[in-house]
Amino acid sequence: NDKNLFLSRFPVAQVNRSLQAWDSADEYLVNHVNEEGLIKANTKLAIFNDAFGALTTNFCHSANDDPDVICINDSFISSQGIRYNIEQNALDDSNITLLSSLDNLPNDIDVILYKIPKSKSLLIEQLIQIKKSVPANCIFIAADRAKEIHSSTLKVFEKHLGTTKTSLAVKKARLVFCQFDNKQVHQSPFPTIWSIAHKSTNDAPSRELIISNHANVYAREKLDIGARYFIDNLPKVAANSTVIDLGCGNGVLGLTVLANQNNAHVHFIDESVMALASAKQNVMTNLPELIEQCEFTLNDCLTDIEGGSVDLILCNPPFHQNTATTDHIAWQMFKDSHRVLKKGGELRIIGNRQLAYHIKLQRLFGNETLIASNDKFVTQSAIKR
Ligand code: SAM
Repeated sequence: NDKNLFLSRFPVAQVNRSLQAWDSADEYLVNHVNEEGLIKANTKLAIFNDAFGALTTNFCHSANDDPDVICINDSFISSQGIRYNIEQNALDDSNITLLSSLDNLPNDIDVILYKIPKSKSLLIEQLIQIKKSVPANCIFIAADRAKEIHSSTLKVFEKHLGTTKTSLAVKKARLVFCQFDNKQVHQSPFPTIWSIAHKSTNDAPSRELIISNHANVYAREKLDIGARYFIDNLPKVAANSTVIDLGCGNGVLGLTVLANQNNAHVHFIDESVMALASAKQNVMTNLPELIEQCEFTLNDCLTDIEGGSVDLILCNPPFHQNTATTDHIAWQMFKDSHRVLKKGGELRIIGNRQLAYHIKLQRLFGNETLIASNDKFVTQSAIKR
């Protein structure tokens, strides 16, 4: 289009430099909106799931007839990336408001540009919230790479919004146009709630832990088998230890530590707003008396956490960023952990066998110990010397 924008993925220093900060679906969406003249003075525009600002930066303030833009994301890193790209292009963002996935939507949105998220649950949750909030004449256009838009995806749009049509594919991307004419109203299935049996490793009686999960939380339906295996192989935690549950998801690891050791301090960290909110909810539900010993932080790995300050870090690393499969986040998490641990402190991790995380631990820590393994998972430990 007529703007020359320079866009970076975020964090800027990440190892996977070859990946782009935008895709052909972003381009298609922006070109379509401009060609059709859909955005006019004072249009209330909502942008969902813009990974690094490729959409948002196009609508920053440039004249007096700017749209009023809200930009909705579950990802802290995406929100940071959008801010970064606005700044590095010296754009005026006075017409842009960033909202999180748990904020209420305004009820006067005129146009929605919707990047289809990887998680089908997040898609369903967002469509239910959109249908509930926006006027029926709102223009809704979704976009993704064509190979990600299946007939089942289109059925989700039809079920939750209404009549759904698709564009031709351009550079392997496709647009999806929806009307709000499906009269059926669907209740959100989220948060989902299930329980796990907690076998105490101290004298406390065993108990059930009730786990609540917002839509974009890893393992929403039941305890993930990797997390189950990790729980069975957690270290004994000494009183007054400081522990980080890194990439906490619903917080089931940190919660288990607290249930075993009521005198631990647990810091729950995730980059997903929904994950962190679920982790907090789960401590409040199960161990409300320990909430003062907990901290909850949206963060990219352990950015800005004080070095040499923590006794134990538990980590079940992710292997995706948006749609890109990558192990750079695991690497960053391990690297940050090495910095943040006290001398003698432990990083304990779990991973699929084939990920061979032990090579990374050996490189960063100079040691690693196999704690347990089965045909699928490996739990390892590394000590900061
Ligand atoms: N700890 C939970 C468990 O074991 O069930 C969830 C583990 S899940 C495999 C990985 C988690 O890492 C997700 O909740 C994801 O949102 C989070 N995550 C991904 N990238 C992150 C980053 N850069 N910084 C912090 N958390 C991140």
